[in-house]
Amino acid sequence: MEDCIFCKIIKGEIPSYKIYEDEKVYVFLDIHPWSRGHCLVLPKKHTRDILETDTETLTDVILTVQKISALVKEKLGAAGINILQNNNRIAGQEVDHIHFHIIPRYKDGSLQISHSTDYVGNDLKEIMKLLTSGE
Ligand code: 5GP
Ligand code: ZN
Repeated sequence: MEDCIFCKIIKGEIPSYKIYEDEKVYVFLDIHPWSRGHCLVLPKKHTRDILETDTETLTDVILTVQKISALVKEKLGAAGINILQNNNRIAGQEVDHIHFHIIPRYKDGSLQISHSTDYVGNDLKEIMKLLTSGE
């Protein structure tokens, strides 16, 4: 995609702190890290989000997420990892080239990832029915 910032990073047209690259996947440090070692993992093939991305590509990406998570724990001493993947503006997606965030968590870190809710209903059964109808 011509005007995609992540495609430009993959092609080397925009510099990045590259952590890993293979035929299918590219990993680099987020320019505004939430914690030390915050990485982005993305397929070289441009697709917008999780619903647009084919199974094989997703598999390649998620296996790399696992590999880089292990690397970050081993080399940076992270005690835990959050994996984040935003889809659509409403969910915080800023760049329309699918990517997974690897956000390392440290023992004495102060990063807050909210566990708040905007669900005020009492209809789990209805939701289950909606999501399982047509099986
Ligand atoms: P999103 O909000 O789409 O899930 O995440 C986009 C991420 O890309 C943000 O965390 C942002 O800091 C990062 N980002 C945006 N532009 C650049 C860039 O030019 N270089 C790097 N390394 N990261 C970027
Ligand atoms: Zn792209």
